[in-house]
Amino acid sequence: MNQINVLDQLTIDKIAAGEVVERPASIVKELLENAIDANASSIIVEINDGGISYIRIADNGEGISREDVRKAFLRHSTSKIRTEADLNSISSLGFRGEALSSISAVSQVEMVSKPKTQDFAIRYQIHGGVEVDFSETGAPNGTTFEIRQIFYNTPARRKFLKTAMTEAGHISEVISRLALSHPEVSFHFLNNNQTKLHTAGNGNLKDTIYHMYGREIATNLLPVSFDNGRISISGFAGKPEITKGNRSYETFFLNGRYIKNHIISKAIEDAYKDFTMLHRFPFVVLNIEVNKEAVDVNVHPTKMEVRFSNSSEIYDGIYEGISTALHEKELIPVVEPSV
Ligand code: ADP
Ligand code: MG
Repeated sequence: MNQINVLDQLTIDKIAAGEVVERPASIVKELLENAIDANASSIIVEINDGGISYIRIADNGEGISREDVRKAFLRHSTSKIRTEADLNSISSLGFRGEALSSISAVSQVEMVSKPKTQDFAIRYQIHGGVEVDFSETGAPNGTTFEIRQIFYNTPARRKFLKTAMTEAGHISEVISRLALSHPEVSFHFLNNNQTKLHTAGNGNLKDTIYHMYGREIATNLLPVSFDNGRISISGFAGKPEITKGNRSYETFFLNGRYIKNHIISKAIEDAYKDFTMLHRFPFVVLNIEVNKEAVDVNVHPTKMEVRFSNSSEIYDGIYEGISTALHEKELIPVVEPSV
């Protein structure tokens, strides 16, 4: 029989990193969520080569103090929850304490961070989970991450990366979602030194939609506003004339988190049924708030799936919220051609 080995921490981290870091866009997502959790009001994202060779994310948030820098890169270390009970009421985007350890296990990371209460910054470099530099330096308040050579030490994973263009597309999607769910934060995204998105960060969702999708969409929106005490919905529903042949115009956030959920999609599409042709999907950007106890966000490492304790109530609320928005404007229902 083969001998059983207990794996060392570097190997454990490398294996676990696979769940969190699938591609450059996963790194961008995790680092942006951290910046938002750190109350940044301005975030700059720069990528080269689809993020495969270089990602830089600079925020003006709270920063990490000297004593916490090394800890932040350990697996399951987080400032966002303390006890198991806290899992029932998560208000931050992160909480699993896995991102920094996972990212640094499979790439070369340089971080410079300065909290306002500390008059110097710490530069920390960690390559493949191994510390390379920990030194004092000068920097503005906030945190800047530079990520180089993703998967340089896991060639099997590197093989699965797509072209720079495809990877850049995934990154752009991630940034768009976070910009839409956080209109109070200014996002500046540059791909190969070219600005791709620059949101105002003035807290106005319609402005953010305008920056992202342009005038045609921004001028054809109906406000959605619904609240029955258990579920509240705000945002915009596109007029029926700005539909699309796929679901890429459907964006919704649950308690501030971008998710995919077929119950919510179904409720949205059912509400539009009388107004759109078959196989056309509406434009919506919805912020859905439900009682934190009514939803389990701790289902999957990427946190994109959730579980509801009462999904029919969610369906009904969304259906009603959208229907009300559509009917208020006395839009004329589309008559489906009979085939
Ligand atoms: P999580 O976000 O789940 O807590 P991470 O591994 O993403 O875990 O980050 C670990 C910790 O590092 C965070 O809890 C936070 O305290 C700190 N941190 C990470 N990124 C930033 C940032 N941009 N600004 C301030 N603190 C940060
Ligand atoms: Mg995080």
